[in-house]
Amino acid sequence: MFENLSERLSGVFDRLTKQGALSEEDVKTALREVRVALLEADVSLPVARDFVKTVQDQATGQAVTKSVTPGQQVVKIVHDALVDVLRGEGEAGALKIDTPPAPILMVGLQGSGKTTTTAKLAKRLKERDGKRVLMASLDTNRPAAMEQLQILGAQIGVDTLPIVKGEDPVAIAKRAKTQASLGGYDVYMLDTAGRLHIDQELIQQAADVRDVVNPRETLLVVDGLTGQDAVNVATEFDDKIGVTGVVLTRMDGDGRGGAALSMRAVTGKPIRFVGLGEKMDALETFEPDRIAGRILGMGDIVALVEKAQETIEAEQAEKMMRRMVKGQFNMNDLRMQLEQMLKMGGMEGMMSMMPGMGKMAKQVEEAGFDDKVIKRQIALIQSMTKKERANPQLLQASRKKRIAAGAGMEVADLNKLLKMHRQMSDMMKKIGKMGKGKMLKQAMK
Ligand code: GDP
Repeated sequence: MFENLSERLSGVFDRLTKQGALSEEDVKTALREVRVALLEADVSLPVARDFVKTVQDQATGQAVTKSVTPGQQVVKIVHDALVDVLRGEGEAGALKIDTPPAPILMVGLQGSGKTTTTAKLAKRLKERDGKRVLMASLDTNRPAAMEQLQILGAQIGVDTLPIVKGEDPVAIAKRAKTQASLGGYDVYMLDTAGRLHIDQELIQQAADVRDVVNPRETLLVVDGLTGQDAVNVATEFDDKIGVTGVVLTRMDGDGRGGAALSMRAVTGKPIRFVGLGEKMDALETFEPDRIAGRILGMGDIVALVEKAQETIEAEQAEKMMRRMVKGQFNMNDLRMQLEQMLKMGGMEGMMSMMPGMGKMAKQVEEAGFDDKVIKRQIALIQSMTKKERANPQLLQASRKKRIAAGAGMEVADLNKLLKMHRQMSDMMKKIGKMGKGKMLKQAMK
């Protein structure tokens, strides 16, 4: 259960948060319990094992951010790793339904929430994306299921294909396809028959329908409460029919977080949507952040660590500024700054923290100053000796040649770097003279 996993992890991290420093042994102990907790939440063994390994690699040797406890830091690492596993590639909610009429095949076991989800999704496509949608039930074994879809359709104002008694699923699919073309629909959704368990007939039927309509999306609806079973179902459906995405239903209940995690890791299929209730608008795009937060149940701590990390970055920038206004701006400082720029997403982020640098940031940007250029500049600085870095005035022609060659670049590139360094230190000195106290305060606002 979500709560169980969350509580369990809370216990583990409570113990950690009471300790001052995080040793490798601490990380191991904590993660062993994380693994047990994941297994209890129905995460499959290989997934849990992989996950714990990733977290351990990340946690060990990572500096603990000042002002948070090591335990809190581990929570953040576990959280980020969960998000990574859950995210996968591609946009969660985005469906490939550009060319009308685009068929969407809905598959899944009986009772998984397939019919409800079909209607929920149709409503969403209609209201959010302005699509004209046609729905058809292929569940010829259960007339009640066909009627259920019809009732839901009327309720949400989405057309359903008229029911013709005695027609087989493939014939219904063909009729839906024709009707969708003639009627000018953007999307037609086929709600296939469900069974309590996967059987050959069911799979064959879905495969036959698939071959007739060639679906743009085949969405597997699985009950998020069924944990490990859900993963087996998904694997089976994917092997036999080919699935393009998963919808996890009943995520409003005290479901196991494990289903989402294993589903993603084992099948490699993106979770597109989650069902969060019986109502027609209780369908949301799958948000890895939110699910990870629910699994961990520790959103506050994650936010706290993020905040602390921001503070640290600001502190580092401030330290560097103090050195710079004193005129102590050498190549090591420049390198540190370049690295910081890379981390902070380029020139603008860094420069915006320093007074008087805005204009220069623009200039260098216009000169094509992107990540690649920054990396090349760092390479040039790395090619210098320790002495040269501390004292760039040493750089005469022969040294320049050696440095440029060492970094696989031209002397002209190095000259550009040196010019930038000169301009920056001049600027810094000027700022220093203008009164560092005032400027610093302003910069740190
Ligand atoms: P199907 O047999 O797979 O077509 O399943 P249905 O669509 O008929 O759904 C079975 C039951 O599950 C219905 O009572 C639905 O209202 C309910 N249901 C479907 N999705 C959700 C969900 O996300 N949350 C909750 N709480 N109930 C759901």
